[in-house]
Parts: sequence; structure tokens; C-alpha cells
Amino acid sequence: MATKTKDYYGTLGVKKTATAEEIRKAFRKLARKYHPDVNPGDKKAEEKFKELSEANDVLSDDKKRKIYDQVGFYSDNIDAATAEAYARGGGAPGGGGYGAAGYGGAGAAGGGGQGVPFDFQGFDFSGFQGGGKAASRGSGSEGFGGSFKDVFSGMFGGGGRQARGPQPGTDLEYQVEIDFWTAIRGGVTRLEIHRQEQCPTCKGKAVLGGSMECPECHGSGQVTQMGGRMKFNIQCPRCGGSGKVQNACPTCEGAGVVTKREPLSFNIKAGTRDGQRIRLAGKGNAGTEGAPAGDLYLIIKVAGHKLFHRVGDDIHISVPVTVMEAALGAKIDVPTVDGVGTESGRATLKIPPGTQTGQKLRMREKGVTSATREGHRGDQIVEVKIVVPKVQDERSKEILRELQKLNPEDPRAELLAGV
Ligand SMILES: [Zn+2]
Ligand SMILES: [Zn+2]
Repeated sequence: MATKTKDYYGTLGVKKTATAEEIRKAFRKLARKYHPDVNPGDKKAEEKFKELSEANDVLSDDKKRKIYDQVGFYSDNIDAATAEAYARGGGAPGGGGYGAAGYGGAGAAGGGGQGVPFDFQGFDFSGFQGGGKAASRGSGSEGFGGSFKDVFSGMFGGGGRQARGPQPGTDLEYQVEIDFWTAIRGGVTRLEIHRQEQCPTCKGKAVLGGSMECPECHGSGQVTQMGGRMKFNIQCPRCGGSGKVQNACPTCEGAGVVTKREPLSFNIKAGTRDGQRIRLAGKGNAGTEGAPAGDLYLIIKVAGHKLFHRVGDDIHISVPVTVMEAALGAKIDVPTVDGVGTESGRATLKIPPGTQTGQKLRMREKGVTSATREGHRGDQIVEVKIVVPKVQDERSKEILRELQKLNPEDPRAELLAGV
């Protein structure tokens, strides 16, 4: 979350003393007006909606609102105690004792002597860079009544940069589509990924060249800042208190990593299923300064097939059978995943006499060889689809009429009886 000083109360059009209910109502009213669904394609409305959401996010949360009221902005990095100390340190005018150097108001660390550092370690200063003054705390331009930004403006921006220390690389996730047969039989698949690699110029250090004296603190590591009647020393935020800075690497602009396209080929194990995740350790984004790289996750998407429908390790297939085969029973050849269109890929299936259309017959271990269960193979499930002969000649018709006479059963008897 950015730590820009923003007037959240002004954004929502409520008083600083507004109740939670007033804030909720104000937000709902404005959100309805500026919601992107109501203003399609309107960038200004979208921006306004984002501001409203941000203001609401902070002001509708008691803890966040308190910190915002005390410090003048909200950041997840500020805890309640720090905000409290901050507010006590600068907020109360005429409290006395603030004229002296040091941070008397904090009370916590070591009696407020010279140079007691206010802990800015966890603060996110990104929002402060190069902005104008925007006092949100309204009244009292004296002292800390202004804003945090007033105190620290001018401390940032410009040349040198402080190294952030090693950062582990993040994980990457790619969806990879493989064809039906590669998933069953295994094989090699190629794809191109975009990943962050260690910057070749600075070797991931993010900085280049020797260190030089920090221009902000002139090498002391500390800066003195005036905040109205307060004067206090803090750790120099430009150099992090080291007194030295280095120039950001021009190749990676201080990131320590550069984005590269990388062709990748990897093995698909026989029996790989749709939706399966493959983890390639260390193939994610590079870390900086020797920190480990993230992992690459490949989500496998298996393409379909016009004859075979795969469900886990089982193969489903619909097979046409004549009325005669279904009635009398038969041995028929059906294709399997062992080789569609080839002699060796066929397998014999016994159709029992009296088989009905839609009936499913199981062919054990004619499915997919499992990628996870050693020695296990799925089944092929054949759905029988009875095809009726298109009889043309009189002789065939005669036989069928004869057959009907011999078998006067009504297949709709149950249906009509409502059973
Ligand atoms: Zn670099
Ligand atoms: Zn410095």
C-alpha cells in the first residue's frame, strides 16, 4: 500500500468526526455514482472509484483509521504503537520539551537522548518520492500538524540508492497445452517463458561502481530534521545509515534482475493428466545478491481427442453395434489408445446377447498407463450405440415383420404404465 498523504475524509466528503455509519453511507453513495459498471470506459470515474475504495478501506477500519488520524497517512507497515508515539511526539502543541534535540516524546527508547533513532525500518517511503506538499491534517501548519511528508520532503530522489539486500526470486506459473497422445505416451514439450534473471551487468547487486559518500548525510549516516519546533536526528533514509551510497545499475535500473525470454523443454511423463502441476525447482525468477531463485510451475492442459474421451486414467469411447450383434451377441474389434488406426491397436470386445444401446462395457486395463501409480493401467469403457439397419429389399422387411410377430413385447409398457 502506498503511503501518500491523502485526504481520505475529503475524498468521502465527511467530517473528521464522522461516525462509522456516516462513513459507510458516504462511501456507498459515492461508490454507486463512480462504479466502473455504471461508467464504462470512463478513466476519471475509475480513478475516483479507486480513491474512494482506498479511503473507505482505511476509514472503515477502526485500527487503520486511528493510525491515519495520528500519522496523516496509512501504511500496513506502521503499527499502532509507532503511530501513538508519533502522535504524542509531535501532535500536542505546547507540550514542552520538544525544542531539544532527540525524540523526547517517544518515551520508549533510551530516554530521548541525542540521536535516538526513530525506527523507520518498516516504513514504505515509496509514496514520498518527489511529491508536492499536501497537508492532510488540516489545522495547525506548525510542527507535525502538517504531515509526515512535509518533514521528510526533500530527503528523497536523485542519484544514489541503497541496496535492499538479497531478495529471493518469486515463483512463476505457466499453463502448457499438450496434445492427447503426448499426455498418454509421454514426450518432450517446449515452451518459451519470460523469467527474471540475475542482471549480467551488476551480477544481481543492483548497484554499480564503488561506493561514494552519501550526499544526503555527507557520510554521517544521520540526518537532522526540523519538524516545526521539533528537531531530531534520524537514520539517513538515503543510505540506510551506512553513510555510503552506490549508483543504481543502469542495465536493470537497480532491480538486480532483468527479464529474459527463455526457451524451455521438459519431459512429460506418460500418463500425465489434465490439470496436473509440474514443479521445476529453481526455474522461477532469479533472486538478487545470491538469494535463491523461485520455482516454475507448469499447469498441464491436455487437449481432447475426437474418438477417445479421457477421464483420469480411463478412456471412454462410443462404439456402434448392429441390432443383430446386440441381440445375438458378438465379438467385435474396437480401437484402443495402444494405436488407433493400426491392427495392433485394436482389441476384441465381447458383446453379450441382449445388449441395449447406451450400455457400458468395461475393457480392463485398456486405458491409460498411470503416471502416479506404478504398474497400474486404467480401463477402457465402451458405450454401446445400436445402429438400425436401413432395410430396402422386401425380403429383409419380411423377416423383420416375422420377427415382430414372434416377439410381440411392448418396450413402452412400463413407460405408459407410469412405473
Ligand atoms: Zn544490474
Ligand atoms: Zn546518508
